[in-house]
Amino acid sequence: MIHAGVIEADAVVVGAGPAGAAFALNLAPLHRVLVLDRRDSPALRNGVSRIGESLAPAARRLLADMGLWESFLAEGHSPCHGGRSVWGGPLLVEADNLRDLDGPGWHLDRSRFDGWLRRVAASRGAALLVPAQPLSVDRAGEGWLLEVETAGRRIPIRARLLVDAGGRGSPLAKRFGARRTVSDRLVCGWSHGFDAPGRQSGLTWIEAEPDGWWYSAPLPAGRRVVAFHTDADLDAAADARDAASLLRRLSGCTVLADSLRACGFEPDGQGGFCAAHSSSLSPASGDGWLAVGDAALGFDPLSSQGIFNALYTGLAAAEAADRHLSGDPAALPGYAAGLTPIHDAYRAHLHAWYGLERRWQDRPFWRRRLVE
Ligand SMILES: Cc1cc2nc3c(=O)[nH]c(=O)nc-3n(C[C@H](O)[C@H](O)[C@H](O)COP(=O)(O)OP(=O)(O)OC[C@H]3O[C@@H](n4cnc5c(N)ncnc54)[C@H](O)[C@@H]3O)c2cc1C
Repeated sequence: MIHAGVIEADAVVVGAGPAGAAFALNLAPLHRVLVLDRRDSPALRNGVSRIGESLAPAARRLLADMGLWESFLAEGHSPCHGGRSVWGGPLLVEADNLRDLDGPGWHLDRSRFDGWLRRVAASRGAALLVPAQPLSVDRAGEGWLLEVETAGRRIPIRARLLVDAGGRGSPLAKRFGARRTVSDRLVCGWSHGFDAPGRQSGLTWIEAEPDGWWYSAPLPAGRRVVAFHTDADLDAAADARDAASLLRRLSGCTVLADSLRACGFEPDGQGGFCAAHSSSLSPASGDGWLAVGDAALGFDPLSSQGIFNALYTGLAAAEAADRHLSGDPAALPGYAAGLTPIHDAYRAHLHAWYGLERRWQDRPFWRRRLVE
């Protein structure tokens, strides 16, 4: 892979989250794949652990297709048996996963999940370079020449194909002139904590309120996340930014607050705040590059589809990359065209879900989502 001081790869992937790792583990048995990530520790943002996401039951089929199902089960993530919601009316509604042919969903330990995917990619032959990030990216003949910074050094890397798996910032695609369309201003603030021993339910909770909505889910090792979603330009966003204000606001949210008391939830002072808007990249592929996961399509957390989409696009892009590297000129545009129906179906479902809540049509958060 090293030629005259230059590292040579068929595909260089920027971003070793679920999308980048899924791409790498599927392509590495066939081609030389190098994955780089600016963070050496998976799923941490500025030293703070990520929110703690749920994985949809249908991910089972994808993981099985990639030969990962048994290995995923051995990682010991917590099963998600269903959800409780207060949405569209004051009553609590429960939906379980018992009739789902794919079985339960999963409450993920994100650091463990991302670390596992990176290890699988490496075991299938991908090279992993962390912490590392591209300083420059230039066209060189039919491929690319990157200068990458790692461990205080600058190293040149030549690649035939570049993959943007860098999350919502689309760090590579933006350099190539691709545009990100952002559909809303959703943000999320969260607080982590612990449930009392033996009182943790395997359920996700969602509750609507006048300026947004709440989410809570158990996390592995007796932990729990409580999150508030609203729009960045609303006064309520100040409560999402600050963990103490968030918990004060929560006490006015009766059903969820009662449920957390029943679990004996105690915050542990950890939390975070981030953008959570829907967005899409156009185009999602170009001459010698493509984008996967959030870099291509960013989903509202209400959909619980982001990680599923990261795994799916990682797999689909690896199949397209294999054809592209074997000389098929239609492979990359075909991959990008396949994202359009996914985006359309996502928008239609999201609109339908937000449309179910009509109690606060006079409030900006809900009014914006009804008129789309
Ligand atoms: C508040 C919130 C709640 C969510 N809840 C859920 C949920 O319950 N279920 C669900 O399925 N999804 C959920 N999601 C979505 C989910 O987190 C994302 O869809 C998923 O992480 C996307 O994976 P990815 O690999 O595309 O990107 P990421 O996980 O963001 O990984 C991108 C990687 O690229 C690296 N990177 C970025 N820029 C560079 C650079 N310049 N150089 C090198 N490396 C770089 C980063 O360090 C990172 O490791 C939620 C999202 C948010 C914001």
